[in-house]
Amino acid sequence: MKDIQDKGIMTRIIHSGQHPDPATGAVSTPIYQSSTFAFRDADHGAACFGGAPGYKYTRLGNPTIEALESNIAALEHGCGALGAASGMAAVNMVYLTFLGQGTHIVATESLYGPSRMILENEYPRFGVASTFVDSSDPQKVADAMCDDTKLVYIETPANPTLILTDIAACAEIAHARGALLVVDNTFGSPYLQNPLELGADIVLHSMTKFINGHTDVVAGIVVAKDPEVLARLRKVHYNMGGTMDPHQAWLVLRGVKSLGLRMERAQENTMQLAAFLEKHPKVSWIRYPGLESHPQHELMRRQMRGGGAVFSFGVVGGIEAGKTVINNVQIATLAVSLGGIETLIEHPASMTHAGIPAQERLAAHITDDLVRVAVGCETYADLEADLARVLDMI
Ligand SMILES: *Cc1c(COP(=O)(O)O)cnc(C)c1O
Repeated sequence: MKDIQDKGIMTRIIHSGQHPDPATGAVSTPIYQSSTFAFRDADHGAACFGGAPGYKYTRLGNPTIEALESNIAALEHGCGALGAASGMAAVNMVYLTFLGQGTHIVATESLYGPSRMILENEYPRFGVASTFVDSSDPQKVADAMCDDTKLVYIETPANPTLILTDIAACAEIAHARGALLVVDNTFGSPYLQNPLELGADIVLHSMTKFINGHTDVVAGIVVAKDPEVLARLRKVHYNMGGTMDPHQAWLVLRGVKSLGLRMERAQENTMQLAAFLEKHPKVSWIRYPGLESHPQHELMRRQMRGGGAVFSFGVVGGIEAGKTVINNVQIATLAVSLGGIETLIEHPASMTHAGIPAQERLAAHITDDLVRVAVGCETYADLEADLARVLDMI
């Protein structure tokens, strides 16, 4: 494998973990669509199961999946990665590996809906307690820690509030109590933020979003900093079964190659759109980490290389006016998800976060007037004209 860890990010995105196929020289990693792999003889099979290099069975490792894992592990500066069937399979891999009877997790209050809902609705059956805090204030994280806390789990920027959490501060808090820090880096992507470099132990992604970027795959990945942590995760993951499929891995490998290009373009569109809406009389508030008006703009500059390509805003007239916006846009598509090449718009209180009780939703700053926009790579003028037209309808 080429040693390119010291090269520029565009080079690393395209080349990390990639090499011509050893069997044929194919430059694009082939799709090894095989569930199992033949052994040369009994001793070879025994050696592979004993830990020698070699493929055995796709749930336990596959060349196409490994090419993707090596790529993302390198981009996140981790020791290795584990591809997962979905972002939620990645989240559960981490929860299941480190949480159990009598343990406790401290998490960001405005987590991705299902990441929070499973902790509230399913994990208590296995004796796991959870505390959700406004992690933008590190003191609140520190105050929630107890002797049983095994994980501090943060999402930054958080979905859909775009509130940031100080990764380095949380790493210090977690480590002081012997807990691991996990960061859901889906919104930042490895292009904009590298939590392991800031002290986190585990970083995970829904690759459905920016990493794949083409709105045609559901997938997830977990990257660990330390080999021991990776080995624990692997043991659980391979037997729990939420592993990737080779074809799915190949699609993400194709998608990730343009991550840098897409992110640059989408972020530029977002910056302009956010600046336009910030001055618009029909917009009551806007939150985007790239704007100087974001209360944590300084923190963004410290731990990210840009504000990303998602923002949320409220329209004058509340929920009804918000509906007018999302029902009448033409370039943006009314759909959940984000990080794709096309612009998507959605209403979290009635869609992605509807499963969280209204009171908890409000406490987590997910107000009923919040409209989330995931900006794509279209021509900027068209995106602005689209939103300007629907805001004039209010
Ligand atoms: C989408 C998403 C997930 C879940 O990923 P899936 O691929 O849909 O399972 C987790 N975290 C964040 C921040 C997400 O946006």
